[in-house]
Amino acid sequence: MSEIDPLQPPKKKPGLTPEVRRKRRNRRIIVYGAIVAAIAGFWNWQPWEYDFVERTPPASNPRVDPDRKKLFAKGTKILLVTAHPDDSEFYIGGTLTQLAKTAEIHQVICTDGDKAYYPFEDHERNRRVRKGEAKAALDAWNGRELIFLGYPDGRLRDTEGAVNRMVEIIHRVKPDYILAFDGDYPPRASHQDHRRAGDITLKAARKATGPEWIMLFSTMHPNFVVDITDDWDRKRELLALHSSQFNGERLQRVENMVAGMAENDGERIEVAMGEGFRCIRLGKPE
Ligand SMILES: [Zn+2]
Repeated sequence: MSEIDPLQPPKKKPGLTPEVRRKRRNRRIIVYGAIVAAIAGFWNWQPWEYDFVERTPPASNPRVDPDRKKLFAKGTKILLVTAHPDDSEFYIGGTLTQLAKTAEIHQVICTDGDKAYYPFEDHERNRRVRKGEAKAALDAWNGRELIFLGYPDGRLRDTEGAVNRMVEIIHRVKPDYILAFDGDYPPRASHQDHRRAGDITLKAARKATGPEWIMLFSTMHPNFVVDITDDWDRKRELLALHSSQFNGERLQRVENMVAGMAENDGERIEVAMGEGFRCIRLGKPE
């Protein structure tokens, strides 16, 4: 029987030949490389973006009045730009309910809503059903016109072509106000289509002639809040019109999430429910 002598250093394993060591090292490089490539591939494929460091506005963000009287005056023209068929009711359903009583609102939806990044979905059906839901919602809050730009869902890009199409729409509709996503100061975890839709619209708004204000929603830095306390039930009804996206338990979850956002924004002006905007006067420094 052999005994281990604790005073003796442990015996070395029989040495690996340089050939075996090289093979093992190569195998490790391949495995780790595949893992990194898989993570990078997944990150690139999924449509969400995350700001690891919170973005702070370049200047202080005082309360702004985007000429409220004009905003709610009869005949005011508004161009609303969103990314997906359900965005407008989700983010600003209360404000739209109020504005559409007097304003003429034209809505642009940048993508076709097919969720092509979900490989097992019926994309054609998504397009058809979600466009129908968007039209029903627009009719419900009394919008004037719905324009689909048809870019692929989850893959909206901020290109010169997209900006120019938006400029053309602005020149045709001649809005006094533009409503769009905040591409510069969005929530830290946000859909890339939302940011790109905001980027495209802000660039087009600065390039075009005519509109006086752009009001950016889904923003971390609102400087104007609309009190939607009395429109909350209506907003919930509008959300439920997107039944392919929000139904059953998911509708409840989404309502809770939207209620949390509305309470946060409401707090800023000491009301129960609000919808916040970062308003920028066009052609003038922020
Ligand atoms: Zn969306």
